[in-house]
Amino acid sequence: MKICIFGAGYVGLVAAACFAESGNTVTAVDVDETKIEALKQGNIPIYEPGLKEMILRNLAEGRLSFTTNATEAIQSSLVSFIAVGTPPGEDGSADLKYVLEVASEIGRAMTGFKIVVDKSTVPVGTADKVRAAISEQLNIRGVDLEFDVVSNPELLKEGAAIEDFMKPDRVVIGTDNVRTAEIMKELYDPFMRKQNRMIVMDIRSAEMTKYAANAMLATRISFMNQIANLCDHMGADVSAVREGIGSDSRIGYDFLFPGPGYGGSCFPKDVKALVRTAEECNYDFLLLKAVEEVNERQKEVLADRLIRELGAPNQAQPLAGRIIACWGLSFKPRTDDMREAPAITIIERLLAAGATVRAHDPEAIKEAKKVFGDRIEFSHNQYEILDNADALTIITDWNEYRNPDFDRIKASLKNATIVDGRNLYKPKRMAAAGFRYLPLGRNGHG
Ligand code: NAD
Repeated sequence: MKICIFGAGYVGLVAAACFAESGNTVTAVDVDETKIEALKQGNIPIYEPGLKEMILRNLAEGRLSFTTNATEAIQSSLVSFIAVGTPPGEDGSADLKYVLEVASEIGRAMTGFKIVVDKSTVPVGTADKVRAAISEQLNIRGVDLEFDVVSNPELLKEGAAIEDFMKPDRVVIGTDNVRTAEIMKELYDPFMRKQNRMIVMDIRSAEMTKYAANAMLATRISFMNQIANLCDHMGADVSAVREGIGSDSRIGYDFLFPGPGYGGSCFPKDVKALVRTAEECNYDFLLLKAVEEVNERQKEVLADRLIRELGAPNQAQPLAGRIIACWGLSFKPRTDDMREAPAITIIERLLAAGATVRAHDPEAIKEAKKVFGDRIEFSHNQYEILDNADALTIITDWNEYRNPDFDRIKASLKNATIVDGRNLYKPKRMAAAGFRYLPLGRNGHG
């Protein structure tokens, strides 16, 4: 099938590569000329495991191409996916500017029947707006062409995006049109050879599904972070509590790890947007407001601990003269994505408290430099930044931090203090090795 995908970002690139991999002819369209030029040369602007190899293979085999020419891409495709950004507007609602720009573009360029698929995360009712934007352009042109708008929210996880796309748990399709559902099924069939995982529903429910999924996951994270904080007060062990509750099949084990707060390009913005959608209907989504507030507070927990451990009391800059080493900057492992990363709040707070901050991350240093410039020191060597530092704090749970050389850490750090935001090590073993080890919600256990 011939398809085009608008937006060569995380979602668009992964979808383009995977659809090409399954034999379709795919054109990825972006307004960013520099990005498109780089992609044509095989330079992939983001880090996502397996993505580069897949793009290069499909580029070489001629199934995948990149362009800024929207008209040509639309006219030569049956299906146009919209996978552009939907950043939060000033009031927290999703800004549909880019989505509607693409819809208008499609209306201006189309010459025959088209299926237009919303893959971006968009509030309930957006498909109607996309339909209206296309119709408006057709009216201006004075032509009467058939088209159908589908909601197909992307449910992949950054860091495992290719795997998620190639072997999805489910593909949600929102459409009332049987013919369109069949075409979408044809497109997704190669990814469901073992079992049909396509769930077809009405458009509004499909749009809501994406927000409900992310809001539910964010809720689990905030809930578990508060349980961990309470464990610290009560002398309980959050890891044991997780085992205890996760074994209940109604609860399950996933998304129950405490941490320094959720981040990334989706959870913060989607939770905000759903709260805003509710407000527009005069419905107070109390629970999600609390989820957001808990998350904002959780981002302060690691810095609070470092200040409590090392800070000079009652000083405007309690960490002046202190050196803090940070392991991990991206909002989660296996991505270079720094959008809304808790590391930003944590490091800004440490800097404001007067600390010198050094940081390591296996993939995100380039992105982090855009945030911090030269206000912090970066190293590609995770041990180098420990020399003479007062403490190490672990922000992202990259695999390379799980089994480090503890002797080397101890010999390098001034105070052998580790504030661990990801509970990577065993507290008792760390204490026996002479570390002052501060995980979340484990207070001397394990
Ligand atoms: P992104 O910011 O990485 O990429 C968006 C791209 O769209 C950019 O390259 C931009 O230049 C391009 N663009 C903007 N206007 C355009 C236009 N008129 N024509 C063509 N291209 C245009 O965004 P992303 O992270 O890929 O997210 C895209 C959408 O998917 C968002 O709605 C997001 O919420 C959703 N989503 C993201 C993820 C994720 O993990 N990143 C997961 C699921 C859903």
